Amino acid sequence: SDCDYTIGDALRKAAARWPSRTALVEGIVGCDARTWSYAELLRDSEAVASALLAHFRPGERIAVWSANSPEWVCLELGAALAGITLVTVNPAYRSAELEFVLRQSRAHGIFVQPQVHSRDLLAMARTVSEELPELRLVQSLEQWDDFLSSSSAGTLHLPHVGFTDPAQIQYTSGTTGFPKGAMLSHRALAVNGRLYAETIGATPEDVWVNPMPLFHTAGCGLVTLGALQTGGVHVLPGRFDADLMLDLFERHRGTILLSVPTMLIRMLDAQRASARDLSSWRLATLGGAPVPVELIRRARRDFGVDVGIGYGQTEAAPYITHTVPSDMHPQWMETVGRPLPQVEVKIAPQGTGEPLPIGELGEICTRSICVMSGYFENPEATATAIDKDGWLRTGDLGSMDAAGYVRITGRVKDMIIRGGENIYPREIEDLLFTHESVANVSVVGLPHHEWGEIVAAFVQARPGAPLTQEALISHCTGRIASYKIPQVWEFVADFPQTASGKIQKFALRDHYLSRTGPPPQPD
Ligand code: ATP
Repeated sequence: SDCDYTIGDALRKAAARWPSRTALVEGIVGCDARTWSYAELLRDSEAVASALLAHFRPGERIAVWSANSPEWVCLELGAALAGITLVTVNPAYRSAELEFVLRQSRAHGIFVQPQVHSRDLLAMARTVSEELPELRLVQSLEQWDDFLSSSSAGTLHLPHVGFTDPAQIQYTSGTTGFPKGAMLSHRALAVNGRLYAETIGATPEDVWVNPMPLFHTAGCGLVTLGALQTGGVHVLPGRFDADLMLDLFERHRGTILLSVPTMLIRMLDAQRASARDLSSWRLATLGGAPVPVELIRRARRDFGVDVGIGYGQTEAAPYITHTVPSDMHPQWMETVGRPLPQVEVKIAPQGTGEPLPIGELGEICTRSICVMSGYFENPEATATAIDKDGWLRTGDLGSMDAAGYVRITGRVKDMIIRGGENIYPREIEDLLFTHESVANVSVVGLPHHEWGEIVAAFVQARPGAPLTQEALISHCTGRIASYKIPQVWEFVADFPQTASGKIQKFALRDHYLSRTGPPPQPD
C-alpha cells in the first residue's frame, strides 16, 4: 500500500524530488546559519549511516541525548537508513533517569551533546556508562566530524530495512511510575508525519519554524518527517525561546508553527513587547495539551494566523485526530477535529471494549498502523495498553459526534472527584482563560479529608494586569456550577513544565502541598 515504506524511503524520495531545495536550516539569528538542501541532507545522512555501521549492527539500539540540532536530525535519518533503532532521551533527565532508560533499552551506544543548559551531559553519560556493559560507545556530538570519518571509505552498503522495523523507542515521560519505551515503527512515524502535513495542506512553499523537542514525536516525527515529505523548509532552533522564534519567523518568512499552547502564549506576549513582521505566517497548529478557545481567538487576532488542533500521544506516533483547514474557525475549535485518514477512533467505557453510543463520554481508543508495536521489553504494560484486537487505550476521556469530531474532556487521571461529583479541569481552565487578565491557567485536584478532592486553580496574570481571587470567583459565578468553582487560588509567575512545554499538573500539586500542607477546609 502507499503506507508501506521506511523513513529512509521517504528521505530518498524527497532528495530525488527536490534535490536543490532547502530542507534544513539551523535556527540561529546570524548570517552563518548552516543550511542543507534535500540532496545534502541525504548525503549527510548516508555518511552517518555508514559511520554507524562501522560501530553497530542493524537492529542494535543507540541513544541520543541532546538538545535540538541539525546533527540530531542527521543522526535520526542516518540511523533509519542503517536500520539502527534510535532511543530518544530527554536532555532534562538527571543521571538516574538516563541510567534507567539506557539500561531498560539495552542501548549499545549514546550520542551526547556535551553541554546543555550548563549541565555536563557528557560527563554524566560517561559515568553512567561504566555501569552498563552493553553500552560500547559514548560519542560527543561536538566530535561529530571525527565520528563521521571513522567510517570506511568506499561504496555504501545499507542493509534492508523493513517498514515495520522499530525506528525509534521513545520513553513516555512517566508522570506515574517508571518511563515506558514506546516502540515506533518506520511506517508509524513516517506515515503519521505525512498524514499530518497533508491534512494541514503543507506544500514545498512552506517554512516550518520548529520549537518542539526532537526527542518527542512532535519534533522528530510530525515536523521533521512532515516537512520532509511535503518538500518544506525546516528551521530548527536549539531551544524554545519566544523572541528567537519570532525573529526566525520574520527572518525566514516562516509559514507554519507546531507547538504546545504554552509556547504560543509566550510568543503572543513577546510579540506585544516588540512587534515583528509576521505577515508570511499562515498557520499555527497546537497539540499535546488542551487548547483554550480564547487562545485561538488571540492568535488569530494578534498573529493573523489560522489555528489548527491536533490530538495524540507518543504511543500513537503521535497524532490521532487533527482539524482540517475548513474547520479552523473558533466555533469548531472545541473539538480536536476528526481522525486522520487511516486512523480509527472509538469511545469505550474504561477497561472494556464495546463502543459507546454517539456523544457519550468514555475512554478514547485508537487503532491504526501508527500505533506503537508495544512497550520495549514490557509485555505487561503493553497488554494493559493495547487489547487483542489492536486497540490502544489512550487514558483520555472524550466523546465523538456523529460526524466524527472528537472532544477531549481530560485525562482519566486528571479528573477531579469532589464529594462524588466528577469535575473536568479543562472546563474550568477554559472559562478562566476567557478572563482578559489571565495569561495562563491550570486547574488540579487537591486531596481533602472531607470532600476527597477539592478544586485548585493556579493562575498566571498577563503582564501588568491586576488580578484578584474575588474577580476570578465572580467571573465563574453563574457560568459554572458552584461546586466546580475553585476553592484554592494560587497566583504564579510561571508553571512547571515538561521539556516539551506542557504544564506538569502533578508538580503544581506537589509544590503546593509541600509548601502549605493540606488545603483549607471548605466552609
Ligand atoms: P505522559 O506524561 O503521560 O508521559 P507526555 O505529555 O509526556 O505524557 P504525550 O504522549 O505527548 O506525552 O502526551 C499525550 C497526552 O497529551 C494525551 O494523552 C492527552 O492527554 C494530551 N493531549 C494531547 N493533545 C491534546 C489536545 N489537543 N487536547 C487535549 N489534550 C491533549
